[in-house]
Amino acid sequence: MSIDKILSKVEKAAKKAGRNKDDVKVIAISKVQPLERIKRVLNRGHRIFGENRIQDSLNKWPSLIEKYGKIELHLVGALQTNKVKEAVRFFNVIHSIDREKLVFKLEVEAQKLGSCPELFIQVNTGNELQKAGVALENLEDLFSLAKERYSLPVVGLMCLPPIEDSPLIHFEKLSRLNKGLGLSRISMGMSSDFEDAIKAGSTDVRIGSALFGPRG
Ligand SMILES: *Cc1c(COP(=O)(O)O)cnc(C)c1O
Repeated sequence: MSIDKILSKVEKAAKKAGRNKDDVKVIAISKVQPLERIKRVLNRGHRIFGENRIQDSLNKWPSLIEKYGKIELHLVGALQTNKVKEAVRFFNVIHSIDREKLVFKLEVEAQKLGSCPELFIQVNTGNELQKAGVALENLEDLFSLAKERYSLPVVGLMCLPPIEDSPLIHFEKLSRLNKGLGLSRISMGMSSDFEDAIKAGSTDVRIGSALFGPRG
C-alpha cells in the first residue's frame, strides 16, 4: 500500500474517533526493507521512519539523509546498554525503554551530549514471560526514575500486544496507564491494528509491512 493510502486510512480512522489527523504520527518501519522501497516512500515526501537495529540504521540512513535531507528517525527495537551511546546520538525518538539500567545509561549519555531523544516506556501489557517491556507492577517506579529523578524527556508509553489477544484491550489498557501518568503521547498500532489503536488514542502508529510489503 502506498504511503498516501496509509495516510488517508489514518485520517479516516482519526476522524471516526473524533480526533485530528495531525495528532497521529505515522512512523514508516523500514527495518530489513530493500532501499528501493524506502526511496519510494521518501520520494512521496514522507520523512518519519523507524528501525529496530542500530547497526543497520547506521549503515543505511546517513547516505539517505545526505540525499533527502532531515529525517525523523525512531528506534523501535530492543536496546542494549552498550548501544545507548550510539542510539542517543542517532535517533530522535526511542520507543523501547523498559528497565532501570537503560535509564541510568541514558542519563549519563544525555548529560554528555547535552540532549536526549524523546522517550517512550515500553510496557508489557500482556505480562508475557519472554516479552520486552516493563512489567505493569514496575511501571510507576521506572517512570519516576526517568521522568522525576532524572528529568529525561519521557513523552509516553508504548506496547506490542500479545499476538493471541484482541489488540484493542491492550490499547485501552495502555491508554488508561498513559493518562494516569499524565503523558500525552502513546506509541501503539502496527500494520494489522493501527485503526483500533487510533480509536484508543494512539498518537504514534508504527507501520511496516502494510506500507513496504512483506519483510525479507
Ligand atoms: C516491526 C515492528 C513494527 C511494524 O510491524 P508491521 O506489522 O510490519 O507493521 C512495529 N513496531 C515494532 C516494535 C516492530 O518491531
